[in-house]
Order: sequence, then structure tokens, then C-alpha cells
Amino acid sequence: APVLHLSGVTKSYSVATDAVPVLRGVDLHLNPGETLALTGESGSGKSTLLHIAGGLETADAGQVRVAGQDLVPMTDTQRAAIRCKDVAVVFQQFNLIPSLNVADNIAFQARLAGRLDAQVVGHLVAKLGLSEQLTKYPEALSGGQQQRVAIARALAARPRVLLADEPTGNLDEGTSSEVLEQLLALVADTGAGLLLVTHSPGIAARMDRRLHLSRGQVA
Ligand code: ADP
Ligand code: ADP
Repeated sequence: APVLHLSGVTKSYSVATDAVPVLRGVDLHLNPGETLALTGESGSGKSTLLHIAGGLETADAGQVRVAGQDLVPMTDTQRAAIRCKDVAVVFQQFNLIPSLNVADNIAFQARLAGRLDAQVVGHLVAKLGLSEQLTKYPEALSGGQQQRVAIARALAARPRVLLADEPTGNLDEGTSSEVLEQLLALVADTGAGLLLVTHSPGIAARMDRRLHLSRGQVA
């Protein structure tokens, strides 16, 4: 069964007195261990779709099934519980917690989900080359290191679905390739499904499948 299954997902934003449609009946599925690129022009609805799949925003209608559970009828509290455990998001801007060191940033979501496992964290830290950084704070890290911490944090609770919004968009070319390859290797290890938003044809080509969003619909 797919780890992520969207069907007929619609979303509008109210702007003044108008409802502006952003997603207009989106269907997509992602299987365990599968990697899927989501491309589309700026404003086509990619981030909105990702936030809905991650339980960070709500759809107006349709089904959003994460590991078999439909997020749409859930309360915010129920959705928050799924968010820590079954689906995680990596952002372009890293979004680390500045007041926590690397070890505590990595443990943060897994701890919230009640799933902190030293062996899982140790594996992620080793694979991402973070063992020398654990007591440092985010401000002391390079962009590539910060994104590796964000990836470790996202995967530490062993989610079924990893969502990534331009995860290498803030990194230089060499670092971007390295981080992307590490991300793909870890996803292959864990069997999570990966939905990755990208503007880059080179990055999209590294995924198993590609979906193109155009004006809120899958083209
Ligand atoms: P993309 O990620 O493809 O660039 P987005 O999902 O960010 O697209 O945005 C899709 C459309 O929705 C854009 O026209 C954007 O201006 C609009 N939009 C996004 N978020 C909001 C919001 N919170 N309120 C109003 N409009 C929004
Ligand atoms: P764009 O289309 O945005 O101009 P590219 O598609 O050439 O850029 O690549 C953008 C980023 O993706 C670069 O940092 C590059 O290192 C990385 N990249 C491109 N192709 C690959 C690949 N096959 N494997 C790993 N990284 C890649």
C-alpha cells in the first residue's frame, strides 16, 4: 500500500473577499522506498501540496492518507501526532532550533514522537558525517552541515514519508550533490517514501518518478 496517497485534494486561500484556488483536485501516490520529484513553476502549488501532505496545512476537500490514515478529518492535535511519527519535512531554510545543540536538534522530533532510539540516531549521525558536530550549535555550522542535521532530525523518528521542499536550494553545487546523495542513500536504507520539490532537472532526474504541477493540477 502507498505510504502517501492524495486524492481529489483541493485548497483555496482567501484573499480579501475572493477564494483563490491553489490546488484543484490533486491525485498522487508514493510507495514505500520510492522517490518522487515534484516540479512546477513558481506559484503552481508545490509548497502548499507539501504542507498539506505533511499535516502543516489543511486541505479543503479530498483525501490525504499518510500510512493509511486520512489527515483531512483529523483535529489539529491528531494531525500533530502523525506529523512527529509518520511524516517529516525538510525545508530549504533548514529550520534548526538555534538554542539547541546538534545532538538535541536531531533528537527533538523523535523525542516528541516517543520514538527516540540511540541506535537509529547513531546510524544517521555516522552516515551524515555529523559525529564531530554533536555539541556545536547551528550557528557554528556550514549550510551543508545544517541541512544534514535537519535530515537526521527528520529521519530520527523513522517516518514512513519524508517530504523535502528544495532541500539543497540554499547550498552550493558540490555540497548540494553530496547532501542529495546522502539523503537518497538514507531513504533507501529506511524504506521511507520521499517526495521532493525541486526546480532542478538534474535533481528531478535522480528520483524514481517525476510529477509536474501546473496551476494546481498534476500535468
Ligand atoms: P509553489 O511552491 O509552487 O511556488 P505555493 O504553494 O507556494 O507554490 O503557492 C501557490 C499559490 O498560493 C501562489 O499563488 C501563492 O501566492 C498562494 N499562496 C500560498 N500561500 C498562501 C497564503 N498563506 N495565503 C494566500 N495565498 C497563498
Ligand atoms: P539547474 O537545473 O537548477 O540549473 P542542475 O539540474 O544542473 O541545476 O543541478 C542543480 C544541483 O543539483 C547542482 O547543485 C548539482 O550539483 C546537483 N545535481 C545535478 N545533477 C545531479 C545528479 N545527477 N546527482 C547529484 N546531484 C546532481
